[in-house]
Amino acid sequence: RAHIRFDGVGKEYPDGTVAVGNLDLDVAQHELLTLVGPSGSGKSTLLRMVNRLVEPTSGRILVDGEDIADLDAVQLRRGIGYVIQDVGLFPHRTVAQNIATVPGLLGWDRHRTRERVAELLTLVRLEPDVHGPRYPHELSGGQRQRVGVARALATNPSVMLMDEPFGAVDPEGRRALQTEFRRIHDDLGTTVLMVTHDIDEAVLLGDRVAVFSQGGKLEQLATPAHLLAR
Ligand code: ADP
Ligand code: ADP
Repeated sequence: RAHIRFDGVGKEYPDGTVAVGNLDLDVAQHELLTLVGPSGSGKSTLLRMVNRLVEPTSGRILVDGEDIADLDAVQLRRGIGYVIQDVGLFPHRTVAQNIATVPGLLGWDRHRTRERVAELLTLVRLEPDVHGPRYPHELSGGQRQRVGVARALATNPSVMLMDEPFGAVDPEGRRALQTEFRRIHDDLGTTVLMVTHDIDEAVLLGDRVAVFSQGGKLEQLATPAHLLAR
């Protein structure tokens, strides 16, 4: 069955802007779905409805068969990784402290947290002893995005929402990050919704690609092979 199901989901902002139309979409367990489309086609709104930063004005979203409107929003968010462009790392906390944010909120003991932080830094190909004690401004843009990914993975979420995760990284660094992320995804089997404006990235990383148009209308949903064959 679907891991995430959008069932007639729509979002109209109070000013009358229809950001997402009447969306029906199933995302499979372990799928990496990329979302593309022009600016303003509702992609960010769609992601933000899954972690309830935005509430839909129609329809429902089911995760593991449960209507997320019935869940506690804070609880829900802790089980969902969220990575945005430019990450939003806390500037006055070290890399390790940033990654340890949610484990800290959950009251993990120091030893477990330390092990997890080291494991995550290694996963994203950073060195715990070198990069862990640094502050975000002491890293490159690409390294900061790696930290953002590590932080989002801290509690082993089953769902990851990524909004232009590599958008601010230079082309060379971006390619490396894409490869790394595909590997991490294959290893962990997280279900991922990834917004990107980079069609090459969408095709390279996506198991399927969802193409949106103005008004948040799903125009096309296809595998990369199918898209490229057209
Ligand atoms: P995308 O991520 O594809 O660029 P968005 O989801 O950011 O699209 O925006 C979709 C539409 O909703 C746009 O027309 C945008 O201006 C509008 N929108 C986004 N956020 C708000 C908001 N908080 N209030 C009103 N309109 C908004
Ligand atoms: P606190 O903020 O509680 O004083 P620290 O500043 O030492 O603790 O770091 C916050 C968390 O990050 C701690 O749980 C610690 O185990 C972990 N941590 C700190 N530095 C590292 C590191 N270099 N590698 C792995 N984990 C670290």
